Amino acid sequence: MSLRHPVTTRFAPTPSGELHVGHVLAAARARRLADVHGGSCLLRVEDIDTARTQNPMWLTGLFEDLAWLGLHFDGEVMVQSRRMKVYEQALNRIRSLGLLYPCFCTRAEIRAEWAAMARAPHDGECPHYSRRCRNLPADRVQELLDKGVPHAWRIDMQRVQDLVGCLKWEDLRTGTRLCIPSECEDVIISRKDTPASYHLAVVVDDAEQGVNLVTRGEDLLACTPLQRALQAVLGLPTPLYAHHMLLRDVSGNRLSKRDKARSIRSLREQGFSPQRIFRSLDCALNRGGIWKPE
Ligand code: GLU
Repeated sequence: MSLRHPVTTRFAPTPSGELHVGHVLAAARARRLADVHGGSCLLRVEDIDTARTQNPMWLTGLFEDLAWLGLHFDGEVMVQSRRMKVYEQALNRIRSLGLLYPCFCTRAEIRAEWAAMARAPHDGECPHYSRRCRNLPADRVQELLDKGVPHAWRIDMQRVQDLVGCLKWEDLRTGTRLCIPSECEDVIISRKDTPASYHLAVVVDDAEQGVNLVTRGEDLLACTPLQRALQAVLGLPTPLYAHHMLLRDVSGNRLSKRDKARSIRSLREQGFSPQRIFRSLDCALNRGGIWKPE
C-alpha cells in the first residue's frame, strides 16, 4: 500500500457548532500529511444538512478560526450546499441502475422498531435499518407514491453486491480491508428534503476534488465500506484512507462538538495561543487521545 503522488487530501468539516479541538486535530493531520508529501490539502464545507446548518456566520467564523490557528488550505473552498445539481446527477445514475427503493418509514417508526428489538441499542449505537420498505409489494409502493406520502430513497445493498461484487480498500493505519456490500446498511441516499445524503456527496466530491488520501476520524471507519461500494457503482476512483483516533476527555467520553469550552473561540478567549493548542493535541495523541487543556 503506498501513497499516490502528488498527495491530495482534505479537511471536510460539517457546520454543527463552533470549530473545536477535534476539528483542529483532523485539519492539522490532513495539512501535515499534505506538507510531508509535498501535496495539497483542500477545504470542503459539508453543509447539505440545511436544517442544522443555516447559520451563515459559521463560514466566517470557520475562516477566522483557521486563520488564527495558521492553518491554510489549497485551491478553492468547496461548499456542498451549492452543489445539489451535481448530487442529483449522481443520484439519477444510481436510480437508473435500479438500485434505489423508496422508504416511507418515519423516524418514530424506526425508533419503535429498534425499541422492540431483543436488545435495545447501547448508547451511541445505531442498528441497521430493517429494510422493511425493500420488501413492500410493487402495487403498495405505487399507491403510496401516488398519494404523495413523503419518502426518502434507500440503496439496496444486496443489488449493489450483485452488480459490483466484493471490493477492497486500503487504510494507511490498518492495511487492506474488505467491503462486502450486502453487509452494509441500506442507507438513505436521497432524503425527503434534499436530493443528496452525506454518503453520496462525500464520494462525489472526493472524486471531483481529486482527493487520493481521505484523512478523517475513526468514527467514520464504519462508513467506508459503504462509500467504497458507492464509488464502484458510480465508477469513481477509490482513495487511500487514513482514519485517525478521536479525542476523549479524562473520563474517556468522546469530546462533544457542542461543548463550547473546547471550541477554538473559547480557548482563544481563555488565553490559549495556537501553539499551546497544537501542543495539547500532541500530548493528547501520546496519551491515546485523552485531551485536557494544558
Ligand atoms: N463532515 C464530516 C465531519 O465533520 C467528515 C466527513 C468525512 O471526512 O468524510 O465529521
